[in-house]
Amino acid sequence: MEKLLKDTGLYWQPLGGNNIDQISGHSYRYTNVCKSSGKIERETILIDLGKFDNHQALGIKNSAAAVPDIRIFIENTKNMPKALFLTHSHPDHLNGIVHYLKNGYKLPPLYAGKYTFMILYDLLNEFKIPRKNWPKMHTIAVGDVIKLNTMEIEVMPASHTCFDSFGFIIRNGKVTVYHTGDMKLDQSTCFRKPTNLKRISALANEIDYVVADFYGIDSDGMAVREVDTYKRLVKIIKKSRKRKVFIPVYPTHPEMYLMAFMAALKCKKNVIFYGNTDFFTYLKMIIEYGISFEQMAGDRIKVSYAHNTEDIAEMDNNFVVIGTYNDINPVFGANYRNSIGIITAATFFNPLKGQLNLHNIKFVTVEDFPELQGYGHGFFGDYEKINSLFVKKPMFIPTHCPVFMIDDVRELAEFVGMRLIPSTPKNNQIYLLKKRVVKLVSSLPAKWMVVIYNTEDNAYMTEVFQKPTSGQGFLKRTVSRRRCMRKFKAYLQLRKKLK
Ligand SMILES: [Zn+2]
Repeated sequence: MEKLLKDTGLYWQPLGGNNIDQISGHSYRYTNVCKSSGKIERETILIDLGKFDNHQALGIKNSAAAVPDIRIFIENTKNMPKALFLTHSHPDHLNGIVHYLKNGYKLPPLYAGKYTFMILYDLLNEFKIPRKNWPKMHTIAVGDVIKLNTMEIEVMPASHTCFDSFGFIIRNGKVTVYHTGDMKLDQSTCFRKPTNLKRISALANEIDYVVADFYGIDSDGMAVREVDTYKRLVKIIKKSRKRKVFIPVYPTHPEMYLMAFMAALKCKKNVIFYGNTDFFTYLKMIIEYGISFEQMAGDRIKVSYAHNTEDIAEMDNNFVVIGTYNDINPVFGANYRNSIGIITAATFFNPLKGQLNLHNIKFVTVEDFPELQGYGHGFFGDYEKINSLFVKKPMFIPTHCPVFMIDDVRELAEFVGMRLIPSTPKNNQIYLLKKRVVKLVSSLPAKWMVVIYNTEDNAYMTEVFQKPTSGQGFLKRTVSRRRCMRKFKAYLQLRKKLK
């Protein structure tokens, strides 16, 4: 495959996360090819190495995970990338690392934020990877510029749902790419730096390509801001006049822990953290990262991490329960007169809804108030806004979405003056990114490496070609083509009317 990269320039290849329905398992390669004294030299970096959520759909018995196929880079030292950069700590961008290590592969040095490494350490220990097999790790922060031989990578902040979410500016001296990572433009993120619009504007004359997170573009306008989620929580709590409030949160989204906490604080309600092991693992990491709930609480509210009778008794029957849980512990003494539930995710808390119904306790959900769900991805308006920062329009290369979404958004994108890559990128294709035009260099079929564990310590991987239909069940739950197409048509009509 590397022989295909013979012309000089910067190459881009999605290794996972970009096909009809496989929108997770992210990994992207950038290779700069140059000639020095007549010899071809290639310098490669990878961005992210996630796991594919719906590995069962690939049809391998006893599969434990599926990950992008990066063997060509790591099987021998000749092709070993200079670095593996991590945008953030979510499993679909990070968890491939442990599976490759578990299968005995060596990985290039990792570059990631402090919080991302905290989550990774936890995984490495969970999978019992001996320390001597850990790759080198370099902690990076917003504003850092990492200089490799022929490439330079600048770290950009990204408004997403966890700490230390990054985008990257990738330069080879001729072409500049802004790889956004998962993000929206929201400037109201709490305890972390938002997407830096000023810096993007300052680089507008330089950036040729925006490799963008298009996960949320089937919604119009700007993505819901964190301050809107917070305000909605406060409003619901106040209006309910209930003493006891139950707010389950999605475990990997620390910003929801924080917003629920701040809403409780605003409403002068004590806080009880209550959840499963996963929840407390993440909570512990938020605290270790430097967030002090006690300091925020001051003497205004009490905070408890336990839920025994004595602890609850100290809460004056006036509290918010924050956590990942599907039951209401009897110790809380919840009934229809004193309690309300606020469900902040679409699917995870169905058993809890049943429990609330059983006790006649009223609850509201994301169906009633969509802004209750923290949004990590930009809507169409976010990308319209980014595009407006540029005079000379960059080319957008969409990632993190099904191919039909890219095909169907073309008319709308053209209408608003957004230049989309002419051919819709699919997993495993290789593109040469020239100054103004892209060239498709290779279109080999995409593969996944399916991981099977015989015993806890005996793992092996098997390659599976990606089928256009695999993962359909997963897709049905997230976004359907017909709905998507209808929405883009409606947004286009709206803009034509406004013009
Ligand atoms: Zn993410």
